[in-house]
Parts: sequence; C-alpha cells; structure tokens
Amino acid sequence: MDSYEQLLDKLKQQVPDKTSSGERFVLPQAELFIQGSKTIIRNFDAICQKLRRDPNDLMKYLFKELATPGVLNGTQLVLQAKVNARLVNEKISDYFNGRVVCKECGRPDTDLKTIDGVTTVVCQACGAKRPASR
Ligand SMILES: [Zn+2]
Repeated sequence: MDSYEQLLDKLKQQVPDKTSSGERFVLPQAELFIQGSKTIIRNFDAICQKLRRDPNDLMKYLFKELATPGVLNGTQLVLQAKVNARLVNEKISDYFNGRVVCKECGRPDTDLKTIDGVTTVVCQACGAKRPASR
C-alpha cells in the first residue's frame, strides 16, 4: 500500500507541466473594494496596461460576463453591483485566454486588430494570428 507521501508524489506527477503554455506570465489580480452597492476595481487601468488592451474592451467584456453595468472613473472601474473578487479575477483570466495570450507561443505580447471585420489576436513575438473570442 502506498504511503501518504507516495500518493502525494503520484498526484504531483499527474499535474501537467504548464510552463510551455505561457502561464509563467503572472496575471494581475483585481483589487476590489465595495462601496455601498457598488464594486470598484481600484487597479483597472494597471490591469489593462499589463494586458496591453484598451480599457473599453476589457470593460465591455466584464459588463457582459458579470451581467453588471458600470462606468469607467479615471483609472478605476465602477461596477453597479456587489461582485465577488474571485469571480472578477476568473473573468479577467478568461479574457486573457480568449483575447490576449498567443495560442501558438504562449506569450502575452499581442495586439488586438480588426482583420476583414474579425477581431484578431496578433502575436508580436511569433506573428501568429487567431480570432479573439468574444
Ligand atoms: Zn506567438
């Protein structure tokens, strides 16, 4: 029978190695605070800069995904509802996977361009293109 340590080792071996898919890039975490019935993402502008995306693009994505309207207020994003930090960070992670990271080389250094009417992720590192998910 396996000891507890041996079981742990087996579990670790089953975890896929993610280093080749660009996950070394550390996603910025949203810093939230609740004000009355609103949620404010304090570092929204910093997140957009790190992801090299127009704040309007990420803003619209979050409004849709969180089913919550809101408004940009300087460098902060104000959501008109109380939203859980874990959920917001999940959505930012989905956004990163769908509209930022290059699926070919796994790097986050990409641009969002409209090519033939299709919003496309264009990688600056390897030149790969793919349609952005919505
Ligand atoms: Zn690439």
